[in-house]
Amino acid sequence: MKKLLLQNINYLVTMDEKRRELEGFSLLIEDGVITRVEKDIQAQPEWEVIDAGEYWVFPGLVNTHHHFYQVLTRSWENVQQAELFPWLKNLYPVWARLTPRGVVASTRIALAELLKSGCTTASDHHYVFPRGQDSGLIDYQIETAREMGVRFHPSRGSMSLGEDEGGLPPREIVQKESEILEDSLRLINSYHDPSPYSMCQIVLAPCSPFSVTPELLRETAVLARQYGVRCHTHLAETRDEDDFCQKELGMRPLEFMEKMGWTGGDVWYAHGIHFQDEELEVLARTGTGVAHCPVSNQKLSSGVARIPEMLEKDIPVGLAVDGSASNDGSNMLVEMKSALLLHKLYWGIDSMSARKVLEMATLGGARLLGRPDLGSIAPGQAGDLFMVDRRRVGYAGAQSDPVTALLTCGDSFQSDLTIVAGKILVREGKLVKFAEEDLHREAEKESRTMLEKG
Ligand SMILES: [Zn+2]
Repeated sequence: MKKLLLQNINYLVTMDEKRRELEGFSLLIEDGVITRVEKDIQAQPEWEVIDAGEYWVFPGLVNTHHHFYQVLTRSWENVQQAELFPWLKNLYPVWARLTPRGVVASTRIALAELLKSGCTTASDHHYVFPRGQDSGLIDYQIETAREMGVRFHPSRGSMSLGEDEGGLPPREIVQKESEILEDSLRLINSYHDPSPYSMCQIVLAPCSPFSVTPELLRETAVLARQYGVRCHTHLAETRDEDDFCQKELGMRPLEFMEKMGWTGGDVWYAHGIHFQDEELEVLARTGTGVAHCPVSNQKLSSGVARIPEMLEKDIPVGLAVDGSASNDGSNMLVEMKSALLLHKLYWGIDSMSARKVLEMATLGGARLLGRPDLGSIAPGQAGDLFMVDRRRVGYAGAQSDPVTALLTCGDSFQSDLTIVAGKILVREGKLVKFAEEDLHREAEKESRTMLEKG
């Protein structure tokens, strides 16, 4: 049985039921699961031991919305002044050149950035399946996440409503409903592991009301519930989406999704910005969740989500970096800082705190993904956490409150050690199993090919 002991932790933020923050405690992980959090744990000779006397320790962060493949089109000059719809229309033809090699290279980079910023569980929403291309793109992602050791919730995204039928995406990247549903079922049967401490759970995720047909939404929800997997999609991201739904469907986005069977504790939406008062009540009543993406929402000028009100109403809210082309990074620590500052600015000084944001990024994310075994540090919880060296230059003068310091200070926004299922995947701020320069080279090559072909 493999055991890892963190000894004499300077400051341990547990996010447990009592939200305890402990000084001078030790923590034992056995076979990937936390078994003891105590004042003194005597190390045994065969255990791996980390002296945590100079470290702040936090539960592993949970990222609840991403599009890894967009790593290859980050900071692309042609879309820097575009809001969502024109941004998408410019990028679709480039994304139509996505290959399996591109998927592997971008998945590696996104997961590397997430791990290096304290994220231990990643969700991805992959919805681009170019015509004529290998359709097993999510299989490559799953294999890559397994290699890297990250807990992974891949979403089988989809687009079925092409431009010629009134949708937004071009024909070359939309698929037939039957093909999508068949592949969704294949992925569930091949990879979905519902057991506690699972490393892979499949999610079904038609892309948005403006890129899929009502039939696909309805049938996807039925399939998901038949197999006990979660449902995810983009919703209430922009005013353009409101207009599209009113014009094409004759109702507002949430009303439409409700009619399609897309509300409930097993559903979470990315963004959730433009909800009206009565729509927040629907979310609260049905337990439907929201993945909050503050950096992307600012960058695309989409709007400010009503997160403080959602938290008051106990609507499940998690944090997310969103796709790499609208962020344009995958750094969860930066995302937390952005969430804190955005809400303070927009809703008022008392509307948000560092601890509320950390809760969103840990327990909140775990709730969206249906993972009671994640998001906190306590006996019986998965052995997922990250550690920050309090001696870094950026934390000088900020030792009185490590939680606030994590979000507001720091000169790097990097984790020093990231541990998933008891395995050390980042040490001294660097990936343990991969040479970062190799990952960079590989992704650069794929990115150039994709951008230059056009
Ligand atoms: Zn997105």
